[in-house]
Amino acid sequence: MRITAYAEELLSESDRLTGWPQRVLVMQKNWIGKSRGVEIVFPVADRSEKLSIFTTRPDTLYGVTFMSIAAEHPLLPVLISGRPEEAAVRTFIEKVKGQDKTVRTALNQEKEGVFTGAHAIHPITGERIPIWVANFVLMDYGTGIVMAVPAHDQRDFEFARKYHLPIRIVIQNPSGTLTEPAESTHRLAAAYTEEAGTLVNSGPFSGLPPLEAQSAIARFVEEKGLGKEKIHYRLRDWGVSRQRYWGTPIPMLYCERCGVVPVPESDLPIALPEDVPFTGKGGSPLSESPSFLNTICPKCGKPARRETDTMDTFVDSSWYLCALLRSRQCRGDGRCAHRLLDAGRSIHRRHRARDSASALLAVLDQGDARPRPDQGR
Ligand SMILES: [Zn+2]
Repeated sequence: MRITAYAEELLSESDRLTGWPQRVLVMQKNWIGKSRGVEIVFPVADRSEKLSIFTTRPDTLYGVTFMSIAAEHPLLPVLISGRPEEAAVRTFIEKVKGQDKTVRTALNQEKEGVFTGAHAIHPITGERIPIWVANFVLMDYGTGIVMAVPAHDQRDFEFARKYHLPIRIVIQNPSGTLTEPAESTHRLAAAYTEEAGTLVNSGPFSGLPPLEAQSAIARFVEEKGLGKEKIHYRLRDWGVSRQRYWGTPIPMLYCERCGVVPVPESDLPIALPEDVPFTGKGGSPLSESPSFLNTICPKCGKPARRETDTMDTFVDSSWYLCALLRSRQCRGDGRCAHRLLDAGRSIHRRHRARDSASALLAVLDQGDARPRPDQGR
């Protein structure tokens, strides 16, 4: 389901849900994960490749001391090819790929990485910046590569300390007490992540407050053709297919001649077969039922295969309100349909927009048989 096309709408319309608990609205906003920032291009030193990064903090651009790339990044094999570091990086990639993504990005997770041997060129200063593979960078969000600013990002800070990478302060706090860590001792106890203070060590942007610097640097980068302003969403399209028996069959067929063919409306609904052996060996149970699997292509009449995945449970629980509205009980009775719709609304409020299926059933069981007008549902 292409929900990414609705990201902005989902976000702005959530402001109209006045009766909803704050916690749910915050969850919704975080799930959409909108952020405004700049995409900046860092050329790779001595190679023709370019690395695109996304940052919400362009004001810290002068504080970049290394880059962190995801182990899954398609450019990584190119970056390490033929370098002495190649074997070590490949070992690290294999190790990271087996790790759970939620664990990899957890804040308290041990940050691990390895130097690729490659460098990027800072787009403004021209400085050579080492590129590291890091376990906490994923391909799923942003571009799969991050500009690391250890003085002003806690994750980068911990990584830099562990691997003795430079930490460069580019935002001085309002009281002016931040001190550059010396070679052997780290006097900075944690990253300074506030957006208050003044830019330092930042060329022509030194002296600006961070928020002002964000737009000034974004503008500069865009004017020089080094990048462009961008809006990013964490939201991803929704894969609705599941490898289990209970679920709504996906009404699609596969034909060798015609490709993917939708099941004609006259053949709907598709009933789940009753001759499925549950082997526990994994995969879609429906693929174990030849009577279900093998069918005829409605276009060319030749043998075809049915889709054997079923839909995610959220598809079932949202469609059946609609199905009940069309049930025999409601036919020819407009008021009945209205009552059911009203019941659905109050459930959505009461149950905090979670799965409403069981609550809906409870109401419907009595709702239609025992009409209770205006009892404040
Ligand atoms: Zn066909």
